[in-house]
Amino acid sequence: MSVQTWSPWREATSVGQVSGLTVRIAYGPHLVSSVAMANDLPPLTPGTLYLVATPIGNLEDITLRALRVLRGADVIAAEDTRHTGNLLRHFSIQKPLISYFKFNEARRGEEILDRLRQGQIVALVTDAGTPGISDPGQRVVASAVRAELRVEAIPGACALIAALTASGLPTDEFHFAGFLPVKSGQRSRRLAELVRLPGTIVLYESPYRVEKLVTELAVLSPDRPLVLARELTKKFEELLRGRPADVIAEWKRKARKGEFVVLIGPNADDSSNFGNPQAGTHTADNPLEPKPDLPPAP
Ligand code: SAM
Repeated sequence: MSVQTWSPWREATSVGQVSGLTVRIAYGPHLVSSVAMANDLPPLTPGTLYLVATPIGNLEDITLRALRVLRGADVIAAEDTRHTGNLLRHFSIQKPLISYFKFNEARRGEEILDRLRQGQIVALVTDAGTPGISDPGQRVVASAVRAELRVEAIPGACALIAALTASGLPTDEFHFAGFLPVKSGQRSRRLAELVRLPGTIVLYESPYRVEKLVTELAVLSPDRPLVLARELTKKFEELLRGRPADVIAEWKRKARKGEFVVLIGPNADDSSNFGNPQAGTHTADNPLEPKPDLPPAP
């Protein structure tokens, strides 16, 4: 087994490759600022698979490093090339795109490995958030690691972390279980297993099944605090907090749509503030969601 230890900063200094860079930060159609980057940014490393996190709604949530890697990559492997094409256009990035999604992972994974062996820089992105988190990525990363090829994460938006940190539920121990199985037998078995775990449980759930999930929780663990984190970073962001029965009552008053992270807190004495559903809505300050056909940034 080989252990990779590598510091981009050390490598850049030792090979003396430094370059200045000015990054233009575009907010929607308006160019707001130019940031002159320090002169000692490391170059991208040939033969590396970069896992680039992209926004989960608000386009401001892309990092400077993500933009630099996307600009510097030889090719971008995307879950949906059309979707990523819109994102790239918004940031005025033009790069060859190849598709990498659930059903071509094996074949495309081999192609990505070949490119890495040839010394190419490959950036992997998904439609939103962090690659490999309930999204394609883990398989090609495992293959690259087995083949002793370099893999580097470019961290950024991730719905589970945004939801967990804003939920008010304990963050010191949490279990992320992605999506529950769809088939009802498997689903209730899995849920029963999960609610036995200590700490906060974090799930992704389709908007069509959230109400069902909350109803199941009202039976399975009626006293545990629940948070529905909806449309994070977007115009209609909302955090609904309460016991399952309270959340159902609120849902019956007004059904919700959009993307959801479901968080189930532990049975804790200090969760009394979760007695009533509270919604924090933001309607005006998140203007930068991706639109299907965004005009390019100037
Ligand atoms: N890789 C992504 C990440 O890093 O969060 C997750 C991709 S997974 C296919 C999509 C699920 O993530 C959605 O069904 C929803 O549960 C959650 N999600 C993504 N964006 C979200 C948002 N803006 N607000 C709430 N949940 C979101």
